Amino acid sequence: MAERMLQFVRLSQQTPDKRAAAERKADFGEIYQRFSAERATEQASRCSQCGVPFCSIHCPLNNNIPDWLKLTAEGRLEEAYEISSATNTFPEICGRVCPQDRLCEGNCVIEKGFDSVTIGAVEKYITDTAWEQGWVKPPTPVRELAHSVGIIGAGPAGLAAAERLRARGWQVTVYDRYDRVGGLLIYGIPNFKLEKEVVLRRAEQFAKGGINFVLNCRVGEDISLAEIRAKHDAVLIATGVYKARDIGGPGANLGGIVPALEYLTASNRENLGDHVPEFANGTLNAAGKRVVVIGGGDTAMDCVRTAIRQGAAAVTCLYRRDKANMPGSMREVANAEEEGVHFSWLSAPEGFEGENGVVTGVRAVKMHLGLPDATGRHQVEPIPGSGFTEPADLVIKALGFDPEDLPTLFGEPGLTVSRWGTLTIDRRSMMTKLDGVFAAGDIVRGASLVVWGIRDGRDAADQIESYVLAKASSPALAAE
Ligand code: FAD
Ligand code: SF4
Ligand code: SF4
Repeated sequence: MAERMLQFVRLSQQTPDKRAAAERKADFGEIYQRFSAERATEQASRCSQCGVPFCSIHCPLNNNIPDWLKLTAEGRLEEAYEISSATNTFPEICGRVCPQDRLCEGNCVIEKGFDSVTIGAVEKYITDTAWEQGWVKPPTPVRELAHSVGIIGAGPAGLAAAERLRARGWQVTVYDRYDRVGGLLIYGIPNFKLEKEVVLRRAEQFAKGGINFVLNCRVGEDISLAEIRAKHDAVLIATGVYKARDIGGPGANLGGIVPALEYLTASNRENLGDHVPEFANGTLNAAGKRVVVIGGGDTAMDCVRTAIRQGAAAVTCLYRRDKANMPGSMREVANAEEEGVHFSWLSAPEGFEGENGVVTGVRAVKMHLGLPDATGRHQVEPIPGSGFTEPADLVIKALGFDPEDLPTLFGEPGLTVSRWGTLTIDRRSMMTKLDGVFAAGDIVRGASLVVWGIRDGRDAADQIESYVLAKASSPALAAE
């Protein structure tokens, strides 16, 4: 091992090549190139094979990172793929969209003074190679079981549970209100971070493996939760969070002020070849417009960068704190800056100006950053007399998401929710207050990350299995 690994002293950190801003902003293709075989081998060999790998501890999936790095360094890619896919349902997706700087790579302790191993890029390389080589197989089970699960939501949490149970022989049906599988992977996250082909090929494999998808089916309207419960031994709710947080103030109802996810979904659909009337008529299209995006998270970054690619005349991001206190990933902020987005830090919207019912500008005020509160978050206060107007033809609100009122939508008051509206579950069994109904992903955590959705989905699959097997082996429980 020693001669192949620990190469950090000789080899410096290399991240995958990034397309130049002028080139990449002209299309929606992913901005990072893939590692060459030689580069992946070299970069993997920088790992010092820590006895206590902090990278794995801080990966929500506890991936066996040092093992697959070593196998990659040795050119044993098929084995690297086996190990990486044993703990992660979508390693190629996490390699693309995880905020590695806050998770695995941010905790890589290679040695003081040396940059971390580029874990995410190697993970992506391993699995993209596995796809090319035909090593990625559908989750076809060795034997079929009679157990059946109904999963509501085809996002990462629902799909991770579906894959795990199907591979073990379960009869799996996934219900989703959308016409495509993937949840926010398909209609939220833009192509330049995650090309849709990467999601669609997974969906195809799952269908080949026998997972039954019931699409265009909104549970609570097209079918009730009670009907789904009656069809299956257990149910998993993985519906994510979609209710956009709104902003009030004078002029908030003017035309041209739109929620972020509607805007991003329209763009993703267009890129998938759908005809989107609101894109065609300009309502959800930034071409030629002065665009203001309100918010400082990753969704805001996705909006500003989408607007640039659609050919906006100018794009400004309005955020009430400063750059250092922004919730969005610094990598994405840097990418946005390179692509020509203007950031108006410490600026809070107070209202909107308009003409003939359509927005013409955002009225904002400059903020002063105060001392941090008990949670460590800096409080902000308006600076008197600092008001200004940011001209805008399209305003995109990216202020975060809350859960829908599921007990009402599903007609099940027995489902309980937290004060934030997320579903409450038993932390160990992952079951809601309804017998045999489990929940996972953003609908439990609140808006989170793809990798946490995968983790929750996999854990929920294990809990569902234990529940159904216990019930099947206990006549008293089965009779309930
Ligand atoms: P979702 O992915 O939201 O999937 C839920 C599914 O349930 C959807 O398909 C929905 O149609 C379906 N559904 C909802 N209600 C019903 C119903 N009543 N009946 C039937 N189906 C229903 N995370 C990262 O790690 N990296 C990123 O770069 C990143 N970028 C993001 C960008 C944007 C714009 C957004 C909004 C989020 C981003 N995230 C990112 C967060 C990440 O996408 C989510 O945390 C993750 O997708 C949550 O997975 P989930 O399966 O819980 O829910
Ligand atoms: Fe890092 Fe995400 Fe991969 Fe875990 S899943 S190793 S956090 S990129
Ligand atoms: Fe390798 Fe860094 Fe993980 Fe240590 S923390 S095992 S050096 S990737």
